[in-house]
Amino acid sequence: MRPIRTFNVSPSLPPRLEPLRKLAYNLHWDWNFETKDLFHRLDRDLWESSRHNPVLMLGTISQERLREVAEDEGFLAHMERAARQLDGYLTERTWYRKQKAKDQQACYAYFSAEFGLTDSLPIYSGGLGVLAGDHLKSASDLGLPLVAVGLLYQEGYFAQYLNADGWQQERYPINDFYNMPLEPERHPDGSEIRISVEYPGRTVYARVWRVQVGTVPLYLLDTNIEPNSPYDHDITDELYGGDIDMRIHQEMMLGIGGVRMLEALGLKPTVYHMNEGHSAFLALERIRKMIQEDGLTFTEASQVAQSTQVFTTHTPVAAGIDLFPPDKIMHYLGHYAGTFGFPREEFLALGRENTGDFSSPFSMAILAIKMATFINGVSQLHGEVSRHMFQSLWSNFPLNEVPITAITNGVHARSCVAKSTQELYDRYLGPNWSDAAPDHPLWERVESIPDEELWRNHERCRSALVVFVRDRLQKNVRDRGGSLSELAQAQEVLDPTVLTIGFARRFATYKRASLFLRNLERIKEILQGGSRHRAVQFVIAGKAHPRDIPGKELIRQIVHFIRAEGLSRYVVFIPDYDIHVARLMVAGCDVWLNTPRRPREASGTSGMKAAMNGLPNLSILDGWWDEADYVKTGWPIGHGEDYEDPNYQDEVEANALYDLLEQQIVPLFYDRDAEGLPRGWIAKMKHAIHLNCPRFNTARMVRDYAMQAYFPASDRYQAMVNNQYAAAKELSHWKAHLFEHWYDMKIQDIDISQPADIQVNETISVKARLKLGALTPADVQVELYQGSVNAEGEIADGVSVEMEYQGQDPNQHSIYTIDISYTSSGLQGLSLRVLPKNEYLSSPYEPGLILWAEA
Ligand SMILES: *Cc1c(COP(=O)(O)O)cnc(C)c1O
Repeated sequence: MRPIRTFNVSPSLPPRLEPLRKLAYNLHWDWNFETKDLFHRLDRDLWESSRHNPVLMLGTISQERLREVAEDEGFLAHMERAARQLDGYLTERTWYRKQKAKDQQACYAYFSAEFGLTDSLPIYSGGLGVLAGDHLKSASDLGLPLVAVGLLYQEGYFAQYLNADGWQQERYPINDFYNMPLEPERHPDGSEIRISVEYPGRTVYARVWRVQVGTVPLYLLDTNIEPNSPYDHDITDELYGGDIDMRIHQEMMLGIGGVRMLEALGLKPTVYHMNEGHSAFLALERIRKMIQEDGLTFTEASQVAQSTQVFTTHTPVAAGIDLFPPDKIMHYLGHYAGTFGFPREEFLALGRENTGDFSSPFSMAILAIKMATFINGVSQLHGEVSRHMFQSLWSNFPLNEVPITAITNGVHARSCVAKSTQELYDRYLGPNWSDAAPDHPLWERVESIPDEELWRNHERCRSALVVFVRDRLQKNVRDRGGSLSELAQAQEVLDPTVLTIGFARRFATYKRASLFLRNLERIKEILQGGSRHRAVQFVIAGKAHPRDIPGKELIRQIVHFIRAEGLSRYVVFIPDYDIHVARLMVAGCDVWLNTPRRPREASGTSGMKAAMNGLPNLSILDGWWDEADYVKTGWPIGHGEDYEDPNYQDEVEANALYDLLEQQIVPLFYDRDAEGLPRGWIAKMKHAIHLNCPRFNTARMVRDYAMQAYFPASDRYQAMVNNQYAAAKELSHWKAHLFEHWYDMKIQDIDISQPADIQVNETISVKARLKLGALTPADVQVELYQGSVNAEGEIADGVSVEMEYQGQDPNQHSIYTIDISYTSSGLQGLSLRVLPKNEYLSSPYEPGLILWAEA
């Protein structure tokens, strides 16, 4: 039955409790224990049953309970404290103001297909989403003028449960937006703000919801409204759901709809950050607007777009990139080609690596790269992998100069460190530890935390995990009508005193969740601890993508192993991994295990959360762990080898894992002194906190994005658009001139003062004559490129120095000179190259042009 009218019924609060509403609707409570404890205190059972959703709680709590707490002076004082903390938080974030006091116009728009902020807002699937959520929280902590854009999925990412055979089943909870920490955005007259996007043959409408994340608003589009067709209702139905057509629909809504939404909200972003390629269509929409509304040409408009867009890639393999067939792109987005004045192949070239290959699909990553001024991978190793992957876009550039850099991921400390552990850090390090830089002296004070206190606290976290796991398993048994003996068994799992290994992440096959089961005899021996009572237990969690059959196989394999070997006490699979489960696991396990196939893990972040809680990591040298101090803060599995044969690799790495457990990890954990403390282990925990907490932290990460990407791009935006886009026009005309005449340029000759044999520190003078043709010395920088020569006869990892322009000779050749000397011996080489130069370019690499002296 369809209703003839609908009402949004909001909770009715006694006037004295009105502050609860503001507290509930700002997700700041997620990383503020004062407020979290307040909701817990309000109604402990509802807090748990609502999945920690204060809005739902306030909507369903009995009026009687509300009247009761309205008279409870203790509760009211607690509420006032929480409200004061929120108000203080909202006004006292100063990092950004110190950096950019004068920039009032800056606005950074952060686009992502998913956001993982808190478990009661299930619009994320895994690491990418949690990273985006942490990005917003730290942007808020630092006071950045950031706004976020995403889609509001009607169905949350699935809830997982296992059938009796251990096969993953999915349940799709319907998100009830009116009982979530969301509010519809409205015009001053109270009507909903709506935007529209054209799809073939029709217009699709979306309304706008806001989630308040501290000071950062997250705006989410929702197409589940009239008069959209049933198909269009479903555009924002399911995260990564549907077929390729639905995927294009979603990405159009995110990118194009996102730009329109920001405009409808009256926002004028100066920087657009694409978190992964899903939102890259935003570039097309921005260019269209500048052509149609501001009268720019395509080259002028794309110059502005490119100069102000940032792209973060998260994918280390080509198969992970979003690709669309050319015909589909033309079907859905062909009207953009019309506006740009582009024939088909020229338009499709925007998303192609090899623009001459008319059969190649349209890649969202390539579009994003071509339309970005700053491009980064998410760990140093992933930056390197990405430079390899996309090298052909900068042909003739040395690999190490491909302008794709890395900003290593982080996690939000106040969200992922257990409450008692935060209190411990607050006490010994002071309250600023959660976003202090790695070189801050407070980190030295980690040493001053008494071993005993750190250890007892950690043991309490482990016990809390054990209690949680038992409760969760019992609930599952009851939900599926299991027997009493199963219930009793669930009550017995895990031992709160035993060395606990945690493994939790998406069950993608490259993550090799079952690697530890490769040799059953050996792992059984390890689990049972032999005769020395040094047992080991595993807590495992994670979801497989609903269509990933091999991933589901892995889960079943683990469940079958547990049953067949009768090891249900010592190996536990917790169903329905989410942010809440993750937080308990990274606090309560002793070691965090990760066994991906290098270099498939672009970064990985759960190990960072564990490290912040003081856990050593035990991991393949991949992603973030490859750049961590993996000896002091944990154990590396292998040495970063690459293997051809996956079976052989599994064998070698599983054995390395068993060796480490047997020879190092188990002995260190169980080596207790007279006071019962594992001193060696505690030392490793302290190193993990000291060295990893400040580095693999979104406070550091967002500061890096701000300094390296947002600030320069935002300044460039303002330079570009001033005076009716004067600079953008000048730059794009200059570029056209540059492209036209670049290949006429010639390096005439190079004079080198010295013969082939020279000594260290001897000065060599180099003089070059260039024919610049229609270009001028102001348009180019001439560089000497030098470095040692490798076995292939190439200059490896060379460095460049700009040469000095000395004027023209009578033949109108431009003369450049430089003096150099070598500081090390061996076979050294030098060459000469020319790059474009212009004050408005974001870097000399932007046009992708380089001219080398011919050998
Ligand atoms: C942190 C987190 C992830 C990401 O973990 P990885 O180690 O990057 O795989 C995934 N899901 C949840 C719920 C998380 O909290």
